[in-house]
Amino acid sequence: MENAIAKYSTVELDWIPIDAYEDGNCGIPYVWSYASSTSGPHLMICGIVHGNEIAGAIALDRLLQSGIRPVRGRLTFCFANPDAYARFDPSQPTASRHVDQDLNRLWALDVLDGCAESVEIRRARALRPLIDDVDALLDIHSMQGEGRPVAVAGGNPKALALAMQLPSPNFVVSGELHDATMLRLRDYGRFSHLNDAATALQVEAGQHWQKQTADTAYDIALGFIDLCRMAPDNFRPNVTETSHTHVQISEHVYTSSDHFRFVDDFANGDCIDKTGTVIGYDGDTPVATPYDQCYLVMPVQFRKRGGRAVSLAKSCSVTRSIA
Ligand SMILES: [Zn+2]
Repeated sequence: MENAIAKYSTVELDWIPIDAYEDGNCGIPYVWSYASSTSGPHLMICGIVHGNEIAGAIALDRLLQSGIRPVRGRLTFCFANPDAYARFDPSQPTASRHVDQDLNRLWALDVLDGCAESVEIRRARALRPLIDDVDALLDIHSMQGEGRPVAVAGGNPKALALAMQLPSPNFVVSGELHDATMLRLRDYGRFSHLNDAATALQVEAGQHWQKQTADTAYDIALGFIDLCRMAPDNFRPNVTETSHTHVQISEHVYTSSDHFRFVDDFANGDCIDKTGTVIGYDGDTPVATPYDQCYLVMPVQFRKRGGRAVSLAKSCSVTRSIA
């Protein structure tokens, strides 16, 4: 376990200061918004909802530094939780996920309209009027383990449709990873109303602190802007993906012992061919795949008792080629 902890706690990415963005340009700190003179949708690209997922901030910085402007509509860049981000310490890289509480578990009306106070609730309330205006939101996250970048569609058909059109990630997961339904930013307001076109999609761009993750996050964001026909000609993404793997979560593996271990260094999106293949041990109890072609979604290499070790998913056998 010590090796796994060391492996998944290594910080390759360089944390960057984002103080220069503090003033914002639309009345909200750390939010920069640009409108075209041509009408169109309001897109938002959001990073560091979790302060320790620094690849999102690096991708946002790169986008802002690039000078990209929408050819129609409005394009907004949001550093979501700068207070948590400012506390990032590479020697304790998981510690700065939030200051007081998880910013991605607050997007319910009783919280936003309630009287509770915290750093994150204040930030959610500050962002709320802007989010209310957004037609399409890309929420960039990263994950503890390695493996395929993934679009997390949850149970939202609008998010799934968007994910299947994005050039990357080409791995798309439906179903819930945990029980935070209706509390995440992507669940908020119009995003969950099926009769409203507003759509939010959460992506996990790679392992939290690997160098590649910031590049992937940037490419995903460019693909998103381009998909919405808002990218200028000199900002076209490098589309390399040709089809999508769409899987549906069937079940989660929760640990019932203090000693869950996988038999291999599994990564997000790995596919196990055969039913009954032992993938790990919960204490002494083997955990086996329940069906053929079983996809492993976000395996967590070190988990305490009661935590989710991995989610299992079936292929939906739908791929969409990009013309
Ligand atoms: Zn996150």
